[in-house]
Amino acid sequence: MSNAHDIDVPVLIVGAGGAGLTASMLLSDLGVETLTISSALTTSALPKAHVIQQRAMEVFRHAGVADDIYARSAPPQNLAATAWYAGLAGDDPDAGRRIAKQESWGAGGADPEWLIASPCLQANLPQIRLEPVLRAHAESKSPGSIRFGQELVELTQDDSGVTARIQDKSSGETYTVRAQYLLGCDGGRTVGRQVGVELEGMRDILYTASVHFTADLSRWATDPDVLIRWMWPPHVGLMSVLVPMGPERWGPDSEEWVYHHSYPGEDTRLWDDEKIIAGMRDALGIPDFAPEIHMITRWSFEALVAPQMRVGRVFLVGDAAHRHGPTGGLGLTTAIQDSRNIAWKLAAVLAGRAGDELLDTYEQERLPVARRNVARSTENAMHHLAIGGAMGLDPAATPEANWANLRRVWSAAPGDAEFRRRIRDMIAVQSQEFDEHNVEYGYRYESDAVVGDGTPAPRNVDEVRVYVPDTRPGSPVPHAWLTADDDSRLAIVDLIRPGEFILIADGADDRWNAAAADVQAALGVVIRAVRIGHANGDYLDHRLSWLRRRGVSADGAVLVRPDGVVAWRTDGADDPEQSLRDAVSAVLSLRVPVAS
Ligand SMILES: Cc1cc2nc3c(=O)[nH]c(=O)nc-3n(C[C@H](O)[C@H](O)[C@H](O)COP(=O)(O)OP(=O)(O)OC[C@H]3O[C@@H](n4cnc5c(N)ncnc54)[C@H](O)[C@@H]3O)c2cc1C
Repeated sequence: MSNAHDIDVPVLIVGAGGAGLTASMLLSDLGVETLTISSALTTSALPKAHVIQQRAMEVFRHAGVADDIYARSAPPQNLAATAWYAGLAGDDPDAGRRIAKQESWGAGGADPEWLIASPCLQANLPQIRLEPVLRAHAESKSPGSIRFGQELVELTQDDSGVTARIQDKSSGETYTVRAQYLLGCDGGRTVGRQVGVELEGMRDILYTASVHFTADLSRWATDPDVLIRWMWPPHVGLMSVLVPMGPERWGPDSEEWVYHHSYPGEDTRLWDDEKIIAGMRDALGIPDFAPEIHMITRWSFEALVAPQMRVGRVFLVGDAAHRHGPTGGLGLTTAIQDSRNIAWKLAAVLAGRAGDELLDTYEQERLPVARRNVARSTENAMHHLAIGGAMGLDPAATPEANWANLRRVWSAAPGDAEFRRRIRDMIAVQSQEFDEHNVEYGYRYESDAVVGDGTPAPRNVDEVRVYVPDTRPGSPVPHAWLTADDDSRLAIVDLIRPGEFILIADGADDRWNAAAADVQAALGVVIRAVRIGHANGDYLDHRLSWLRRRGVSADGAVLVRPDGVVAWRTDGADDPEQSLRDAVSAVLSLRVPVAS
């Protein structure tokens, strides 16, 4: 057998969805050559994910893509809330009436806790429009490296690399690619199976049909600030979901929409387009509804996680390693964060600046996040169904009986007060989906790429909703707006350049600059020392935001990894150079630090 391969590349990325395109961009910025293939002929034809959380937008800010996403995203005022309704339209005077409304995901920038957390607001851009933006940036960073219509059909690996057999779908011909590492960003279709990893958990929990259409719903849709509409038409007794898809307008006058409807058990209507459309007409309460249909898709709600995310030189990324339901908007954003986590580690190992064990920390860090997000998404979905039950809505009951129950939500009768309070409380619990700030932003890593300092976690009154900014190692570096010498404003995360660590010391403390320069010279890894202070330093912290959260004394320092995660902190050191060198060596799995 010949050793010749048609293509040799350091990293092969299989899949060009959110995970693969993000990995391509980040690795290009890190100077790593990649080849990205997708079996599809182009980017997603389905709207799919649309919610892009703050921490994911920081990844895009870092890659220089955030402005293009915000320019196309729903504006903040159209995604500030979510609401529950008695369907959309219909003859009943209460048809379409709002049951409850609550703020969602930082209330479009109105919630100060979310503004404190990050320089980025949440965005909302369906995958059908997001992926072309990511593709354009990925292609411009690495021309010719993103190839569609190329399917991975076989994968083998040995001690020095991975060999992939790929089929060109237009010609049917196959060729081989030899890579040092492979990122499986294929949504779980091929790579996992090839390396013997089977996702574990619950499959086919609920079947859903999604209809993407163009229609004018502005006569019936209300509440311009509402992004996701949870509709419980009493004559149906089941929930449907309606989401505006823009592309120009995102309120009740949105041009495009997606309608989701879940079917119980093995309901055969799911497989018949006409029946899905008829069901949609009925649920929306518009008998002559004739939208322009773009696509009808079926998908099943799953709660699956891979038992491992690394197999030798192959890494499972995004949906290849974990598949969630959409409730909570955690699928795509988790995929983006996976890519961010693996990219800088791969670049460091490929450049010989880190030990191979650094790559083990990908799984150590991301698997717990994946498990939690799968659990949260599932719980969010179940609770939606429980709300319907609490309102007394039942698909087996008559429309009259369901209406009679639901009207108690709006009733002023004293006998209904307890019922109303219960519904209000049930819906309030759903803020675990729409205000899940600590799940999205605050999660913390414990791994060999973090030097823990044994300090206890700050007291947190709500582990799902409350993010407490903090520099405990493993946490995202707390956000602060800083002022540069030229009076320009930038965020702490903007100080991080691809592949570089930053070491933050007090504005008046020079000792850490020398330590960073020495360790950089010894280990070959860039450590940019920055002094941040209220009255002096390289950057001014006018609002004292960093001072409030830095968690170390004026003699101390905070080391931040290239992915914005605090790697180590100290209150001060007798020998700053040695303590920094020990910390960086540990983070990079450098077992024998190079002597200076
Ligand atoms: C209806 C719906 C709504 C959703 N809403 C949300 C939401 O609001 N927020 C959220 O965060 N998530 C949501 N999700 C989930 C989200 O869409 C996924 O988590 C996300 O697409 C995962 O991205 P990925 O890049 O890992 O995988 P994918 O997007 O599945 O991309 C996989 C890529 O791999 C390619 N591929 C597959 N097999 C091969 C092969 N053998 N060779 C080469 N290429 C291959 C495919 O062509 C594709 O390019 C939703 C999903 C659905 C179905």
